[in-house]
Amino acid sequence: MSTDCIFCQIASGAVPTDKVFEDDQVVVFKDLNPQAPIHLLVIPKKHITTLEFAEPEDAALLGKLVYTAKEVAQEQGLEAAGYRLVMNVGEQAGQTVMHIHLHILAGRELRWPPG
Ligand code: 5GP
Ligand code: ZN
Repeated sequence: MSTDCIFCQIASGAVPTDKVFEDDQVVVFKDLNPQAPIHLLVIPKKHITTLEFAEPEDAALLGKLVYTAKEVAQEQGLEAAGYRLVMNVGEQAGQTVMHIHLHILAGRELRWPPG
């Protein structure tokens, strides 16, 4: 837990957020500034700034982020039309919040490659 990290505060419940799923390890909530009709963020409760700083013992937790995204997507019926998972790593990739998060984007056509 990092007290000055907004996602740690969301994970702990200190900052109220529109959560769609939570268990002992992860939280899924709606993005404040959605880039698609459905834009969710999957975060670990553990504070890890960016993928670059993940340790070998975090491997299962990283897998859990992806599996949770799959379960939430399925629950929301996103798999039929498809959806995109994105993790921005570092400044040039567009990471603005320094607490690992996986974006789930859906509900519109998503171009490739991203701009
Ligand atoms: P990044 O650019 O780091 O990959 O993504 C950070 C995401 O977090 C952005 O899409 C941004 O809109 C979202 N975000 C930033 N602060 C908050 C917040 O306080 N609450 C919520 N729900 N989303 C946030
Ligand atoms: Zn954090």
